[in-house]
Amino acid sequence: MAKPLIEFTDNGIYCPQGKFYIDPWKPVDDAVITHAHSDHARWGNKRYLAHHLSREVLLYRLGDISLQTIEYGEKVMKNGVEISLHPAGHVIGSAQVRIEYKGQVWVISGDYKTEDDGVCAPFEPVKCHHFISECTFGMPVFQWKPQQQLFDEVNKWWRGNAENNIATVIVGYLLGKAQRILQNLDLSIGKVYTHGVIENTNEALRRNGIILNETHRITPETSKDEVRKCIILAPPSSVGTPWMRRFQPYSFGYCSGWMALRGAKRRRAADRGFILSDHADWSGLISAIDATGCEKVYLTHGYTAPFARYLSEIGFDAHEVHTLFGDDESPNQTPSEDEEAPSKSPPEGETFSAELSSSSPSGGGWEEAI
Ligand SMILES: [Zn+2]
Ligand SMILES: [Zn+2]
Repeated sequence: MAKPLIEFTDNGIYCPQGKFYIDPWKPVDDAVITHAHSDHARWGNKRYLAHHLSREVLLYRLGDISLQTIEYGEKVMKNGVEISLHPAGHVIGSAQVRIEYKGQVWVISGDYKTEDDGVCAPFEPVKCHHFISECTFGMPVFQWKPQQQLFDEVNKWWRGNAENNIATVIVGYLLGKAQRILQNLDLSIGKVYTHGVIENTNEALRRNGIILNETHRITPETSKDEVRKCIILAPPSSVGTPWMRRFQPYSFGYCSGWMALRGAKRRRAADRGFILSDHADWSGLISAIDATGCEKVYLTHGYTAPFARYLSEIGFDAHEVHTLFGDDESPNQTPSEDEEAPSKSPPEGETFSAELSSSSPSGGGWEEAI
């Protein structure tokens, strides 16, 4: 039997033949990045490969990295292994990574959702022998409503608040959720204001050519009268802070897949909980895995144990693997994602140099596929 094309190592998901990692959690030479969330795109790798639309957010978050970007479907070679990226439908620029060597095909999903959100490229199933899948919401209780229905509720709630002359604060993750909310708001109700970290992310996306609805950055000068009748897009880290309280009176809504659980809204002290996720729900996960036609499926993060058991029961060869991917919908999200200023300087004692790539015996860099 041929040696597996992927190994699960202490540094992350590794392709020994190609000598590269996918979303490594420790610094390595070559990292293919599925998307710009902080648990997948970490600082300290020598070379990065990602989708074009992740470019500006990665540079904003990680500083001056050696980054090559490619289009969906474009092929690059690394030590004889063919690599291509395919839409994951999770956030703008998110990709599944397909690798092929001597007829063996693996797909690493990163995070994904199956519903087309109209903001990022919709998920595309990719045929493979081995599929490495997330399963953040791999329990039957997680079944999402069509997003239009959900945004109708959001807009109705905002309109009601505006009629009552109070501000509306809506909380969502800064890359993904925030833009999805922004693009689905009914702007005839009022203006959209943004917290600084969300606006920084919006600006990075706009530099990348993404057209987003108009937003107004909240500054220390922004008065509460100015934002009344308007909606404020805020990150999870701002909940309960003086930054948010200064806009009182307001109604506060929280958007997350976890809102499907009893008590979640109360625990976040929210007035409204909207079940909105950038991850696949229970049926989305199963249909996505099924569509790959894979022989084996590996579950990296989420409800890995029960979901692996369920998949085995329905006839998949499913395995649970241990990784360090986090949960971008939890209020206790991975550090650095929500900081006002991203860390741009290397840790003490480490030097970062793109030059190193030219001295590597394999030639470094990502070669173009023939
Ligand atoms: Zn993510
Ligand atoms: Zn993730």
